[in-house]
Amino acid sequence: MFSKLTAQAPDKIIALIAQYAADPRGDKVDMGVGVYKDAQGRTPIIRAIKTAEQRHWEAETTKTYKALIGDGVFISGMRGLVLGDVAADRVAGAQSVGGTGAIYTLLDLVRTIEPQARVWMSDPTWPNHAAIIGHLGLASRSYRYFDAETREVDFEAMRADLAGAGPGDVILLHGCCHNPTGANLTLAQWEEITDMALAQGFLPFVDFAYQGFGDGLEADAAGVRAMASRVPQMLIATSCSKNFGLYRDRIGAAMVLCETPATAALARGTMETLNRVHFSFPPDHGAALVASVLSDPALRADWVAELEGMRLRMLSLRTGLADALRREANDDRFDFIARHRGMFSRLGASPAQVERLRAEHGIYMVGDSRMNIAGLPEDRLDHLARAFVSVGL
Ligand code: PMP
Repeated sequence: MFSKLTAQAPDKIIALIAQYAADPRGDKVDMGVGVYKDAQGRTPIIRAIKTAEQRHWEAETTKTYKALIGDGVFISGMRGLVLGDVAADRVAGAQSVGGTGAIYTLLDLVRTIEPQARVWMSDPTWPNHAAIIGHLGLASRSYRYFDAETREVDFEAMRADLAGAGPGDVILLHGCCHNPTGANLTLAQWEEITDMALAQGFLPFVDFAYQGFGDGLEADAAGVRAMASRVPQMLIATSCSKNFGLYRDRIGAAMVLCETPATAALARGTMETLNRVHFSFPPDHGAALVASVLSDPALRADWVAELEGMRLRMLSLRTGLADALRREANDDRFDFIARHRGMFSRLGASPAQVERLRAEHGIYMVGDSRMNIAGLPEDRLDHLARAFVSVGL
């Protein structure tokens, strides 16, 4: 049976990590993998999470199963974090295995109801979106999103493409901090997409993996909340990997906004069943930690402060690099780096330029020229700027 298997293409980002590790140069720069890094290049455990973990270790008396849907305090805490008090009684939430698990569960829910549904993705998007949609056997479409010239959202093109969507179409949007481009919708554009959803009847699906990494916890949620306050139904996938630093603990939440509380109860029951067949009970550890951080005022304040420090660090790296490039290039063509938000920016380098940056300067980024801003060395931004300009950017 297994001889029928075909070789899988290696994951490009994972291959890049191995190539970086094997590079002997002392001044190499890693802007590849999508994890937050501090000034020392470490991915720290958030202080409040560490404290919650210690308390949890002391208080936990059993490892027996909890609930199929997950930890209720965690789920309602995440709903509040994402949606505030918008439409609380119409939202069904379920704990998931990371943000990836939330996306998978929600698309499996769509498939259960509407196997013919088409899922529309931004061009470009996080590659796992297409992989999951394809794995589930759902049809996909893409909509134009990024203007390669200005490195901003090409909203005219996005709107023109989405004009072709209607009932039975799911429109996947990045809630903030678009991966891989760093270019984001304005609040007015969120309102316009919402108008289109209402007029055309498509189902918005917000992938919200970076809340707190862009303009702040509340500001980052403005688009998704504005939409949720007006549409009858939508899907939201959240992740605690980045903003709680819980990458390997695999914790996220899937949310379904329904027309009525009664429909939300049905959605909740179906997500319970989907959890059952995907993995039965979701892993508890990360959920318990997030639940206690969100419900303990002192821990929550400390988490918010630390997350804000991470966000501001990325923002100052953005402005620092844009300034260095303005000096080096003698014009403002790289200012988009300061305007982008989140952990990533798409630089707009060709594959050959990306390869030259790696080979000649030890600067590693993903082949589509996605840079992880948190990987920028704050004391060598001028060196980076010189390298970018030297390869013809
Ligand atoms: N969506 C996007 C756009 C992402 O970049 C990520 C993380 N790379 C995720 C979802 C999910 O991440 P995780 O499963 O690690 O929580």
